[in-house]
This record gives sequence, C-alpha cells and structure tokens, in this order.
Amino acid sequence: MNYSNIILNKGKETSSLRFHPWIFSGAIAKKENTVQEGDIVEVYSHQNQYLGTGYYANGSIAVRFISFVKVTIDEQFWFNKINAAYNYRKHLGILNKSTNVCRLFFGEGDGASGLILDYYNGNVVFQAHSWGIYLQKQAITNALINVLGIALKSVYDKSAETLPKQLNAQTKNDYLFGSIDGDVIVSENNHVFKIDFIKGQKTGFFVDQRDNRNLLAQYSKNKTVLNTFCYTGGFSIYAAAVATTVHSVDSSASAIELCNTNTQLNNLTNTQSFVMDTFDFLKDKKDVYDVIVLDPPAFAKSRESKHNAVTAYKRLNATALKYIKPNGILFTFSCSGVVDKYLFYNTITAAAIEAKRNVRVLHYLHQPPDHPVTPNFAEGEYLKGMVLWVE
Ligand code: SAH
Repeated sequence: MNYSNIILNKGKETSSLRFHPWIFSGAIAKKENTVQEGDIVEVYSHQNQYLGTGYYANGSIAVRFISFVKVTIDEQFWFNKINAAYNYRKHLGILNKSTNVCRLFFGEGDGASGLILDYYNGNVVFQAHSWGIYLQKQAITNALINVLGIALKSVYDKSAETLPKQLNAQTKNDYLFGSIDGDVIVSENNHVFKIDFIKGQKTGFFVDQRDNRNLLAQYSKNKTVLNTFCYTGGFSIYAAAVATTVHSVDSSASAIELCNTNTQLNNLTNTQSFVMDTFDFLKDKKDVYDVIVLDPPAFAKSRESKHNAVTAYKRLNATALKYIKPNGILFTFSCSGVVDKYLFYNTITAAAIEAKRNVRVLHYLHQPPDHPVTPNFAEGEYLKGMVLWVE
C-alpha cells in the first residue's frame, strides 16, 4: 500500500528509534498537503530511514504509530494486533471461570495508540480516542469477529465522548455488530455486576480495579468499611462479602442506583449507600470506619490543573486519615496521568503529616496487567494507589 510520507527534522528520529509511539508536530520537516486528519502515513527520518507507520492528526501529537515495520493497515493487520492482545490476556489467565470482564486492548500498551476495547462477557465496547482509530472501526470490528468467534455477542461504539471535541459532533454511539437483549451481567472474581455500557460512565465499568478490589477483601473481614466515589460499587461488593457493614458514597444518583442493583445481585444485606459529596459525607464520621477507600475521578486532566489536583488529593486524604479508626486501613488511589506516582506518594505523606497520624505503607498499587505499561511508553502508567496502616 502506498501511504503519504512524513519526513522529520534532523535529529528528531531518536524517540521513534526507541519505539516511542508519538511524533509531535514540531518534529515534522515535510508533509504532503493532501494529508488529512486520520490518514495513515509512513514516517521517515531526515536521512530517509523508515521509522514507522501511523495515523495523522491536526494537533500537537501529529502522528501516532501503530506499527514500526512497513505494513498495510487492513483487517488482517487489526486481526494480528487484537489477536496478540487477546492471547496475552489468555496466557495470563485474566479471563477464566470466575472472571469474564477485562480490558481487551489498552492503547499504546497493546501497540495502537487511541484504541480501547473493553470485554464484558461477550460484549465489546469500542472507544476511539482519535479520528485515525475511529476511521478503522469497521476493520477493527471485523477483526474482533474473527478473533473472538462465537463468543462475540456485540460490539458497541462509544467514541462520541472520547474523540477530540472538534470531531465528536460527527459521530453517534451505536452498535457496530450484534446487540444485547436484556441486561449485561459480568462476573469479576465471582462477584457479579450489571453493566450499563450505553448510559454508564466511561465504558460502563472500572475494569482497572479488579486486583485492588481483591486486596481490599483481604483486609475487610469483620470490619466497618466506607467506599467513597463508589460508582457501581466495585469495591463495596468485594468488601461486603466479608465485612460487618459497608457504606458506599457517590455524588451521582444513577451510580448509586447501579451500586444498589449490584448489592442485590450479590445477595448482600450488610450495605447502605448514599448519594452525597464525599467531602460532605466525611464531615461527621470520626472513628466510624475501620477501612476507608478513596478512589476519586481524575482531579487533574492536564498539566495546568496539576497543582489544584494535588491540593485536592491532600485535603481528601488528610480528612480520611484524621477520621479513620485507630489501627485502620486506608486504600487511596489516583488515576490522574499527570500526577505521577512519586508526586502522589509525596502528597499522601504530606496528608499524613497534616492529619497527625502515624502510617505504614502496606502496599503500593497500580493498574492490572490488562492495562499494560511498556518501557517505551512510561506515560501509559496512570493508576496508582497506596494501602496504609493508620495507627
Ligand atoms: N471506585 C469506582 C470508580 C470511581 S469513578 C469503581 O471501582 O468502580 C469516580 C466516581 O466518583 C464517579 O462515580 C463519580 O460520580 C464520583 N464522584 C465525583 N465527584 C464526587 C464527589 N465529590 N463526591 C462523591 N462522588 C463523586
């Protein structure tokens, strides 16, 4: 296949030679005028050395590589990519008798920037974070049909909110293959959840907390547990199976509705949930809870908001640390990519000092292996957490 070529400025090839998946617009020396948003392009160094194949975008990240060897981007290409991602998860045993939900494809971590596929018991939610990936949706759907075979029930495109703002008006969320009849119910480590990928946040479920929820269960036996920012109650359900009582808090009424549905689905009777702001809820909760989970939404989405985000993480964690019962356990997370793990650890240390509590770090937590981080793309690491023993 003959793709348009992009030539880089002298010396700008070093990151591509280390397989970093992005080319910034300032690195480009020459580009054909006909190249449009989303077009497949081949990138060459100033000395005409082939560097990789990717797709073009009008923005500061001008090219995102999807291959570092010359290749035609067609259904076979996507089959190979998605099959490799699927086999990797199979090797690790992520999908098994007790778990039929996982991230099937995680952008750069699986070798295609901008592509997210979440697997919900035979239903796949496709999320394109760029126009280049969006244009490939039919080839990707056909590839999914071939990779998953009869296990595949539906593919739902939920890109309207993840495409760049100037492009998302041209799209509408809809099925690309099949459809669902009735509720989608998944099992995660034998806990069941109803997934509303059409109306729910993100692709319908926070698939990235599976291992951390399991760890919470280990520390929740006969404890009083508070799960803040609970969304569909992932942490609550795991904890409630072993705890004395579990309280769940979320500011969204529809999230609490799903959380309640999930407690019923799991036949749990020791839970209570509250539609409330976490900061307001915590106000009068001194010495009530043995275990507190803080899993807020990304407080920082850009570098500009980093400072405010750190202030918010510190305030939230200092409050929880002040109020948690003696010999309590705090599970605290940040999913802001721009707040790296060291900044997060330092922020939590500052919160502990402010709360005047002695803490010990029991665990440093991160995203699970179906959200792979690769050494050529450290930016892929976004979820970090700590488990603290609070004296
Ligand atoms: N822990 C969840 C995911 C959390 S997503 C899980 O495992 O699935 C973040 C959630 O925080 C969203 O459901 C959002 O509605 C909620 N939220 C955002 N701001 C909030 C606030 N100030 N108080 C309480 N909930 C809030």
